[in-house]
Amino acid sequence: MDHVASQPDSRRAIPRTDVLLALEVVAEARMRLAEHVIVGVIRAVQARARAGALAPDRVAEEVAAELAARPASAQTPVLNATGVVVHTNLGRAPLSDAAVAALQRAAGYVDVEMDLAAGVRSKRGVGARAALLAACPAAEDALAVNNGAAALVLATTALAAGREVIISRGELIEIGAGFRLPDLIASTGARLREVGTTNRTHLADYADAIGPDTGCLLKVHPSNFRVEGFTSGVDVRDLSVVAAERGVPLVVDLGSGLLSPDPLLPDEPDAATTLAAGADLVTASGDKLLGGPQAGLLLGRADLVSRLGRHPLARAVRMDKLALAALEATLSGPAAPVVEYLHADPARLRERAEVLAAAVGGEVIEHDGRVGGGGAPGVPLHGFAVRLPEAVARPLRLGTPSVVPRLHEGAALLDLRCVPESADEVLTAAVRAALREI
Ligand SMILES: *Cc1c(COP(=O)(O)O)cnc(C)c1O
Repeated sequence: MDHVASQPDSRRAIPRTDVLLALEVVAEARMRLAEHVIVGVIRAVQARARAGALAPDRVAEEVAAELAARPASAQTPVLNATGVVVHTNLGRAPLSDAAVAALQRAAGYVDVEMDLAAGVRSKRGVGARAALLAACPAAEDALAVNNGAAALVLATTALAAGREVIISRGELIEIGAGFRLPDLIASTGARLREVGTTNRTHLADYADAIGPDTGCLLKVHPSNFRVEGFTSGVDVRDLSVVAAERGVPLVVDLGSGLLSPDPLLPDEPDAATTLAAGADLVTASGDKLLGGPQAGLLLGRADLVSRLGRHPLARAVRMDKLALAALEATLSGPAAPVVEYLHADPARLRERAEVLAAAVGGEVIEHDGRVGGGGAPGVPLHGFAVRLPEAVARPLRLGTPSVVPRLHEGAALLDLRCVPESADEVLTAAVRAALREI
């Protein structure tokens, strides 16, 4: 025990783990945190004291402070001041209050697969399915799965595994981290049959490629880029005529999840219009323009939806009960935040920006927000921002609450489009605090 004897007194004064574990604050922390997490916090504080970074008599209060500040999940809520509505790095769509309430109700035991009247097992996801059909009457049937990519994989697997998926070369897209459409489809065991060229594909290209080995035709909305100039594609209406004549299903991947047209986004395809134009099946995400939880939506012909639902893969991509509840409530409740933020009134955004600028000493500039999430590229959402020095961005992000600004041309821009108005005051206080740190 030489090393103990040789320790300076101050080190020996560091409270022992069992002493710290007996503190009142630890009993409180046990309501939120696992024992190994608490012990980890205690050991880390003791180590700092041993290293001389903390006085031994401050160890107990430091443990108390760290335990109080330690959430059970490391995900930190942020105020999105970027002006990007569907921000992939910030979790895409923020849920509506109705969706949050539904998610909480579903958190315990819940009748997700039980008919309470009969006391027997029932079909999973009936509520979400009914809500989808009510919101999109153009669909005969609907199925919700884990995400948009899963919806596409399920559709191509069930309709075309071991056969061909016919797709235009202009639609072989990469969506974002790890999502390359050709690779995804190849992973299902379906063969890609590419037709046309990068900039031009004609109806005859599809018609010539259809044969006994065709599983389905696939049209993909190139949501995150635009090709301009000498281009042509085949619209759903024309393609659906050929598909019907030849008896092959036409699947359209919409991406964004608009269920009906939005005049603000004239180029963004929606499920109702695409189904009315003759698509047999559409796939889309739940957490883009629909504004719901992560989900993949499949809408369309009843026989195809039921075939997909019965495929073994459907079980592997099924939605969890929390997301099912949130999806249903997003569809049945008041407009989701994503919809409100997209349609925010520029005059009101300007007023709010002016109040913020006056309070923190910044300049109001015109600033276009974005749809984001790979949707509606190049569509500006007219609005305003408060310009601050770039150096404030880091303290803003690390503050309480965390505020994420847009970094642009050497400045930190605060666009209030995606900040709930009820949070304007805490945002102002957070900006003041961050400015004091630079
Ligand atoms: C976003 C998107 C997907 C992927 O959907 P996830 O919900 O992210 O899995 C697929 N296709 C298109 C056209 C998209 O825009």
